[in-house]
Amino acid sequence: MPQNQKIVSGADYIKSITGRNLNVYLFGDRVAEPIDHPIMRPSINAVAETYDLGVRAPELATVISPFTGERISRFLAICSSIDDLVLQNKMQRKLGQNTGTCFQRCVGMDASNALYSVTYEMDEAYGTNYHNRFKDFLTQMHRSNYVVGGAMTDVKGDRSLAPHQQVDQDLFVRIVDRDDEGIYISGAKAHQTGCVNSHWMLVMPTMRLSEADKEFAIVGAVPVDAQGITYIYGRQSCDLRAMEGGSIDQGNNLYGGQEAMVVFNRTFISNEMIFMDGEYDFAAMLVERFTAYHRRSYVCKSGVGDVLIGAAASIAEMNGIPKASHIKDKLVEMTHLNETIYATGIASSYQGYETKSGCYLCDDMISNVCKHHVTKMPYEIARISQDLAGGIMVTMPSEKDLNHPEIGHLVRKYMQAKDGVPVEDRMKMLRLIENMTLGRNAVGYLTESMHGAGSPQAQRIQIGRAMQLEYKKRLSRVLAGIEPEGARTTLDELTGYFARVFALPE
Ligand code: SF4
Ligand code: FE
Repeated sequence: MPQNQKIVSGADYIKSITGRNLNVYLFGDRVAEPIDHPIMRPSINAVAETYDLGVRAPELATVISPFTGERISRFLAICSSIDDLVLQNKMQRKLGQNTGTCFQRCVGMDASNALYSVTYEMDEAYGTNYHNRFKDFLTQMHRSNYVVGGAMTDVKGDRSLAPHQQVDQDLFVRIVDRDDEGIYISGAKAHQTGCVNSHWMLVMPTMRLSEADKEFAIVGAVPVDAQGITYIYGRQSCDLRAMEGGSIDQGNNLYGGQEAMVVFNRTFISNEMIFMDGEYDFAAMLVERFTAYHRRSYVCKSGVGDVLIGAAASIAEMNGIPKASHIKDKLVEMTHLNETIYATGIASSYQGYETKSGCYLCDDMISNVCKHHVTKMPYEIARISQDLAGGIMVTMPSEKDLNHPEIGHLVRKYMQAKDGVPVEDRMKMLRLIENMTLGRNAVGYLTESMHGAGSPQAQRIQIGRAMQLEYKKRLSRVLAGIEPEGARTTLDELTGYFARVFALPE
């Protein structure tokens, strides 16, 4: 697609990524055209839906760009208010509902917002010009309304060693060369969500760095079709069902997620696309702000949970027992868990605050609590949905058997549940639950819920850092009569999380 042609609809988006000649491998073969590949296409459809939602519900999924004055996807927007943070979450829930999977665009959104404030503060500390460069980059992205992916997670090698201590230095992405025009990077990023479906990628460090790791402290933007990039597509459970054709056994024919390993081999980043170059002491701030945004972006899973709750209620109806009290109770339990995820995510956004750059940042304590819930609650919701589906979900015959000239009538006769419910509909609903709890979209609903945006222990570390035990101990000491009432911390003295909790409206 020519640079200045702006993407508006899902169809525009699909056109824009057609014929790019990316170096993508799947099952040992180079993929000539991702949009034609039955395993990859559902992930492309999910990204396309982010644009189509913008057409159908512009207030929810688009904003007016302050840089171009034109309507752009909310995924490219910098949050200039608490409402902007909250609306990100509402858009994510809706897209989870519409796709039943990961729609892949939140990493780029969250990375852009984190970089907006971090580049500002880096410039303040070092007199660099990263913030203006980053705004120029954003302006370019807004003009075309592109998909920007974020590439953060390094493959990490030996987890006990720092980047510069690894035997193979490529186990963390690093600068391997530089000239007057820019730098060259090598290394690999693991499980990169939506990378093949993006137009540009923001490459960032994955963790706190020390001076010895200076050459790993690099942030830059590269076009997805830049030279020296190889994508090795991650396979998903039951992915081969997409190669079988048919419309039942996949469970969700339309939408899926996407993760791939991205390998950089001396990939060039031009000077104007570099937003950190050696400022290792800002790597931790970038990672922490990014994860604050991203861990509450996981309210996407409450949208996916809505679909699974609906599927569980539907299968109970198809089985003829919608009114059984234990069924109702299980649906209530699923909803309670699902709304807990949403509640913590949205609370993190509502308790956001303005950074020096003017960009709003959400509350990191509640964001970590949200993501920590997400490492557990979808598993319980999935367990209950399997309980309501019954064992037939994993033992029923295939679509080909249902349509077989000799045994098809047997499948139809013995798969019948409540009279009047078509057997195909019951099988489709069972396959959807299988898809979301064991199949392709369980990758997103379950394992990505566990490890995406950091594994459970990463959230516990952040919660531990922010929990302000000294303050809480003082509360208890005063009430226990060990310290006088005058020893109470005043509201003015509060810092960190509790300063945000008790911040009064201006
Ligand atoms: Fe967005 Fe959720 Fe996918 Fe992450 S897992 S990119 S938050 S939809
Ligand atoms: Fe993710």
